[in-house]
Amino acid sequence: MNTPLPEHAVDLNEWTQLKPAFDELAAAPLTASTCEAWLADWTRVAYLVYEAFARINVATTINTEDASAKKRLFHFLEHIIPQAQAADQVLKSKLLATGLEPAGFDIPLRNLRAEVEIFRTENLPLMTEEGKLGNQFDEIKGAQSVVWEGHEIPLPQLNPHLQSPDRPTRERAWRLGQSRNLKDRDALNGLWKEFLSLRVQMARNAGFADYRAYRWKLLKRFDYSPADSEAFQSAIEQVVVPAVSRLNARHKADLAITSLRPWDANQHVYIDSRARPPLKPFTDVSVLDARAATIFTAVDPALGAHYNTMRREGLLDLPSRKGKAPGGYCTAFPVAQRPFIFMNAVGLHIDVDTLLHEGGHAFHVFESAGLKSHLLQDVPMEFAEVASMAMEMLASPYLAHERGGFYSPADAARARFEHLDGMLRFWPYMAVVDAFQHWVYTHADAAPDPAACDAMWSGLYQRFHPDVDVSGIESEIANGWHQKLHIFQAPFYYIEYGLAQLGAAQIWRNAKHDQAGAVAAYRRALALGGSAPLPALFAAAGAKFAFDPATLGELVGLMEREMDDLRAAGG
Ligand SMILES: [Zn+2]
Repeated sequence: MNTPLPEHAVDLNEWTQLKPAFDELAAAPLTASTCEAWLADWTRVAYLVYEAFARINVATTINTEDASAKKRLFHFLEHIIPQAQAADQVLKSKLLATGLEPAGFDIPLRNLRAEVEIFRTENLPLMTEEGKLGNQFDEIKGAQSVVWEGHEIPLPQLNPHLQSPDRPTRERAWRLGQSRNLKDRDALNGLWKEFLSLRVQMARNAGFADYRAYRWKLLKRFDYSPADSEAFQSAIEQVVVPAVSRLNARHKADLAITSLRPWDANQHVYIDSRARPPLKPFTDVSVLDARAATIFTAVDPALGAHYNTMRREGLLDLPSRKGKAPGGYCTAFPVAQRPFIFMNAVGLHIDVDTLLHEGGHAFHVFESAGLKSHLLQDVPMEFAEVASMAMEMLASPYLAHERGGFYSPADAARARFEHLDGMLRFWPYMAVVDAFQHWVYTHADAAPDPAACDAMWSGLYQRFHPDVDVSGIESEIANGWHQKLHIFQAPFYYIEYGLAQLGAAQIWRNAKHDQAGAVAAYRRALALGGSAPLPALFAAAGAKFAFDPATLGELVGLMEREMDDLRAAGG
């Protein structure tokens, strides 16, 4: 490419610095002999845009009061991203139009063809409309507050009370939260109808019989079908639901209760039947940082070296601080071939989990840095979360002090028990969310009727949580779908976590027999980025991309036995 580009991503501030490069790529002859160089040039431009945007996002989250970063962000969002996307689209069409099939690009070409196939100009304003509805959903949810012991608090701040060892406190917090949610019923039901009619229209515009078929292609789900998802739901019903019932039976005995209510056990928060105070892994964040380095090195020296590179190069922002955005994430700087981890550690066990999880995403960035095109870096979510969830599991044997971690042996056992408990409880809830949406988008006549949705959600909830006593709280339970953001804002996007969890559990199983072999396979799979289909990515990691009760059941059995051992060890 002759056009000069800014040397560093941080120097990219105006569309005029990019436009000549995109223009040159759009005009350049594209043939079998020039294709490789053309793709490499495109990748240089794409990486530059990606990294510049990622760095601006980092700047705005590490200091939300940084006015100049915010200004740059808005400028980028308005004056660079849309232009770059449109220019990118031109290059995608250009590549497809040549009919060239460069070696190793089967997956990106498959994805590009699908994008072109379902793209409709008339859907663009509908997508904008959908985004606005999403904002309205956020506004309604963001405005929810309750009065708890004389203080007005936002709804999420009820969470610690939902975890209280005191049962009446949990019940009071649960009921208070639900009663607040019920007040927004009409508003959310109104939004729901608008969401549905937009989605039905988008699918119709693109020539699909129903929204599910359209969305399937939009989410690039080429490696599994709606029938596979339904098979996964029944596998969960067959092998996970009974396992959770066994957990619940023990939990009930521990809590000395005869009827299990939603405030006694759920997939969101762990309720410790022994009323122990929260785990305290560290007080100083430098301890979190140093022990994480030890743990990653124990999992694999090369991964430990990656993490130490991040420490050395200032690619970690771990402690909670005034002026930081909430949450945690891992992003990539593809020009520098480096990840960046952001989080808000305060000294809780969840901070350890978050760093191990984001560490897995970071290792994905390191391991796949050798791929020659940005088009090969598009990792499907079903596998991206394997990288992070598997890292949480691979690290779990090292949580005790004596192995480099944070805890006494009993506390380490407790942390691991809670982790496996959360994984098992997640699958049935995921099945409810998934099954509900399959019903919604294949019943276009019934789904706009909130009462029909309530009835469907209730039935599914009870099918997948058969031992939870819902008497007297039927309307709160029926309203559960109003509390799942994905159902409103990211339709069908949820099973990804359940499938990734199954992949992660298989890698953990392999590591129990042969840690070095399991981690080597994990790293080989990460190095593939998005260049292979899901079954091949899973296979490279030593796992099966599967939906059946046998595969799931084997792992569930292993997890239950591990939980028995951990319980005996003080967990
Ligand atoms: Zn993740």
